[in-house]
Amino acid sequence: MLTRYLSPRRNIWLTSILIGVIVALLAGSIQVMVIYHSRSERFDSIIDNVNVYLTEYFSQLEKTMVGLQPLVNQKCENIVSDLTARAAFSPNVRAFLLVKEGVAFCSSATGPMNTPLVQLIPHLDTRKAVDMRLLPGTPMMPDNAALAMWVRNPHDDNDGIFVSINTNLTPYILYSARQNDFSSIALVVNDTALSTLTNRLIDPQNLRAEPIRQVQIKGLPLKVYLYANSWLSENTLFSLLLGVVCGLLAGLVSYYVLTLKSDPRKAILLGIKNNQFYVVYQPVVKADTLRISGIEVLMRWRHPVAGEIPPDVFINLAETQQVIVPLTHHLLALIARDAPALQKILPAGSKLGLNISPAHLHADEFQDDLQQFAASMPANHFNVVLEITERAMIDKNKSLAIFDWLHEQGFEIAIDDFGTGHSALIYLERYKFDYLKIDRGFVQAIGTETVTSPVLDAVLTLSRRLQLMTVAEGVETPEQAEWLRKHGVNFLQGYWLSRPLPLEALIAAHDEPANYFSAGNGSL
Ligand code: C2E
Ligand code: CA
Ligand code: CA
Repeated sequence: MLTRYLSPRRNIWLTSILIGVIVALLAGSIQVMVIYHSRSERFDSIIDNVNVYLTEYFSQLEKTMVGLQPLVNQKCENIVSDLTARAAFSPNVRAFLLVKEGVAFCSSATGPMNTPLVQLIPHLDTRKAVDMRLLPGTPMMPDNAALAMWVRNPHDDNDGIFVSINTNLTPYILYSARQNDFSSIALVVNDTALSTLTNRLIDPQNLRAEPIRQVQIKGLPLKVYLYANSWLSENTLFSLLLGVVCGLLAGLVSYYVLTLKSDPRKAILLGIKNNQFYVVYQPVVKADTLRISGIEVLMRWRHPVAGEIPPDVFINLAETQQVIVPLTHHLLALIARDAPALQKILPAGSKLGLNISPAHLHADEFQDDLQQFAASMPANHFNVVLEITERAMIDKNKSLAIFDWLHEQGFEIAIDDFGTGHSALIYLERYKFDYLKIDRGFVQAIGTETVTSPVLDAVLTLSRRLQLMTVAEGVETPEQAEWLRKHGVNFLQGYWLSRPLPLEALIAAHDEPANYFSAGNGSL
């Protein structure tokens, strides 16, 4: 409803802006989704890596500790060097302690000792096959938190191995893998947590917010929390930028397309500039021999978006938009470009029919344009016939002057579409035409409507009396051709003889053995 009150230009602006905004929003949100998805996949893969690494690490460690179990029944002095060596070869292990009846009696770091395990780690549950604790430090490294693991001897509840492990392992792998993707991680064992942010033990309740991912290591009371911003400000910036760029582009493109659509004048001028116009040639044959006597040039427009636009439509548009002069100018240039090739396949004296719109005929540039065109064509080869409709003859005096000038310059004139306008017969006596082109409406009525034949008869009789050559347009059947020939029509043109052809097809037809240049059998 609103658009009715707006000017077309404002309408175009509004539509383009709307399209731009919609595309911007779409592109921006798609980008947000893509970033979100890829970040989420990255977090999944990090947490998976951590899980695999730690599961593998602890299962190796457990195996080592199972191997150490027999040492629990030995004297510390005898096995301490062995124990020290084992600790040295186990990655991240600070110390192994051998525990007999709840008392730690041998350390891989300090040798023989005699301390009840409950005293060392108050809350460790030695009745469990495997238990774990986080420690604020160990005797040798009191300021560095450690992870402690207990592996019970399968044969005796109070015997087993205790190990302290450096906690720097996980952050190390993570940080080295993807530095800026996450902000911190935390290890959580029962009711204590160790975060890379504080490096001292805290209550898991005091950990900041929800982790973005977490994993429980299989068979152990150990959890790993991964913290990251699910969204970074640079992601927002990037999505915004992409949205703005896409929106601007879409807005510009729609502005351009809509302007063209609403401005046929610009579209035609752009079409000329971008070579969207081309020409086709339709042979005209002598009625008695069916040999080619000339061609009519017909213009075509292949628009990149709208496709083929019929000449009736764009010629009309060009006239109303006052661009018929540049368009015909372009047409003449296209013909001049083809002229050397046409000269090779058409004998000297061949007629070259050009459609001239009334608006161009009366334009100031007309005479210059034609003189220039004649100069650009091969000398003394073509007889240029200007096809002009009755519409061009409304201004009698002006038309008469132009016709005289054309004849002086050696151009011939055909009255086109004869019989479609009013008072046609008057024109025939008033102007000096060389050819009369009978409209295809008459031709197509031959054999179907007996009523039209007398009209056509009258026209042909008058033409003969005025010594006008006649060309029948739109000959589609041999019956029509036969009738026209019998009634003394001089030239024939139509699909029965040949459709309008692009230059290459015209050349190919010329090169064929049985073609209209020699036989004119209507097989084309
Ligand atoms: P026109 O001057 O009467 O051109 C003849 C039209 O009849 C052409 O249509 C041609 O393709 C068509 N035609 C030829 N033989 C047959 C046939 O056997 N059966 C039927 N049904 N049609 C046949 P086209 O090319 O679509 O052109 C339509 C009109 O556009 C032309 O009518 C002419 O008035 C105009 N036009 C075409 N090119 C130009 C041009 O370069 N300048 C100007 N001012 N007008 C042009
Ligand atoms: Ca014509
Ligand atoms: Ca015609």
